[in-house]
Amino acid sequence: MATVAARTREGAPLAIERVRVDELRAALRGPLLLAGDAGYDEARSVWNAMIDRRPALVARCLGVADVMAGVRFARESGVALSMKGGGHNISGLAVAEGGLMLDLSLMRGVWVEPRSRVARAQAGCLLGDVDRETQLHGLAAVLGFVSATGIAGLTLGGGFGYTSRRFGWTSDNVRSMDVVTADGRFVHASEEENADLFWGLRGGGGNFGVLTGVEYVLHPLGPEIYGGAVAWRAEEAPQVLEVFRKAATEAPPELALVAVMRIAPPAPWLDPNVHGKPIVMLLACDTGDVTKAEQRLAPVKAFGKPVGDILQRRPYVTQQSLLDATQPRGRRYYWKSEYLPAIDGEMLAKVAEHAARITSPQSAVVVFPLGGAVRSRPSDHSAVGNRDAEAVLNITASWEDKAQDSVHVEWARSAWRDMRRFSTGGTYVNFLTEEEAGERLAAAYGKNLARLAEVKGRWDPTNLFRMNKNVAPAVAR
Ligand SMILES: Cc1cc2nc3c(=O)[nH]c(=O)nc-3n(C[C@H](O)[C@H](O)[C@H](O)COP(=O)(O)OP(=O)(O)OC[C@H]3O[C@@H](n4cnc5c(N)ncnc54)[C@H](O)[C@@H]3O)c2cc1C
Repeated sequence: MATVAARTREGAPLAIERVRVDELRAALRGPLLLAGDAGYDEARSVWNAMIDRRPALVARCLGVADVMAGVRFARESGVALSMKGGGHNISGLAVAEGGLMLDLSLMRGVWVEPRSRVARAQAGCLLGDVDRETQLHGLAAVLGFVSATGIAGLTLGGGFGYTSRRFGWTSDNVRSMDVVTADGRFVHASEEENADLFWGLRGGGGNFGVLTGVEYVLHPLGPEIYGGAVAWRAEEAPQVLEVFRKAATEAPPELALVAVMRIAPPAPWLDPNVHGKPIVMLLACDTGDVTKAEQRLAPVKAFGKPVGDILQRRPYVTQQSLLDATQPRGRRYYWKSEYLPAIDGEMLAKVAEHAARITSPQSAVVVFPLGGAVRSRPSDHSAVGNRDAEAVLNITASWEDKAQDSVHVEWARSAWRDMRRFSTGGTYVNFLTEEEAGERLAAAYGKNLARLAEVKGRWDPTNLFRMNKNVAPAVAR
């Protein structure tokens, strides 16, 4: 009997009869790919090249009915199941070895209702897809810093970006979500309908079902904002980081300031004399009144001797893709991250120290701002924990040569071990690497973890959805 070699949810070998695979193919509108098929390798690859897993089957879903067929197949066959949105998760959660991958990346429709300030987006959208459509109306959803990131993983994990200080987590700005649940039903979740599921979906990742669509609350913003970046030689870091500390601490919610320390890439906006040399960079995005923003950021522009300055009036969509080139798909990546209670001088001095020890020209230490509206809701408003954070520290190792893995991973780990003392004790679920579970999951959710496990027990009692940072009570794992 012809079979396809696969793996169960528990990781055991599983032989799926060809006839069952053919039935699944017939039930789908989109293509079903197996190893050797054109497009299989592209579909199984994710942003982080450290992840190299081979699913048995890839269903390239074209709509909700395809997702339902896939969930039914996974439930009945016992095959491991994963969902792919933008493929940006650093742990590679989109792909399970020997599993069935529901690849939603062809589902990229966005519908904007300007009068009610709502956008409906299909779950395979990238952040840039949503910005592109909403900005036509001078509206924006709260999204992240890199336009190629998937909305599904980002929103389900909480989500933050330049406008989070003003409007909260991405998931705070969601009106409803549509999911296909473990029992194969299409379920609408909002404050009014299936409220417990809606609570869990806003932070709980892919634990509860396959997201097929999101309804975002939009805010009037852009199309022109004041933003960009200014860079200085690393020798000026102590003074620049003090400017950052003061400006970030006093910033109104409209202003997000990000500090980045790294080796200068050969970017055309940077003085060629600093290419390959250490720099400190401040990224700014002010979505308030443009004239006031210009005045607010004038001291940053005027400070010291910049080696590059692209802080200017610009379309919001260009701000949203400013970092894209620094995060290409297919490099090797390893991150360590912590939430910070404050942006203080001692912590920033340590950031500079660890940046000075960077082992790869693509690595960086980044401090993102939070606080503001993130703090304005109660800690159990949704599953996302850590509303007390004022900033996010991300130690991002990035390189190309596989043989150098241990060097760059160890740089990130050792910097993190030293920086942990500045943490709130919390961390962001969407930045967790492959090996981070257990206590790191508790750090990501805090008190909300127990409630997440309860919601999981109701909506996915057999832990069908386990290719995620899993919140199932231990018994179902
Ligand atoms: C370069 C880069 C920049 C980033 N910037 C930010 C940022 O600014 N702000 C921020 O908050 N985060 C950011 N992140 C983290 C990001 O939120 C997570 O990596 C997130 O998981 C990416 O979502 P994705 O859809 O691209 O992921 P994928 O790898 O496709 O999916 C990751 C996991 O999300 C879940 N998932 C995906 N699709 C579905 C679905 N349809 N239904 C149910 N579950 C699903 C599953 O558990 C899946 O395994 C960034 C990541 C990268 C790599």
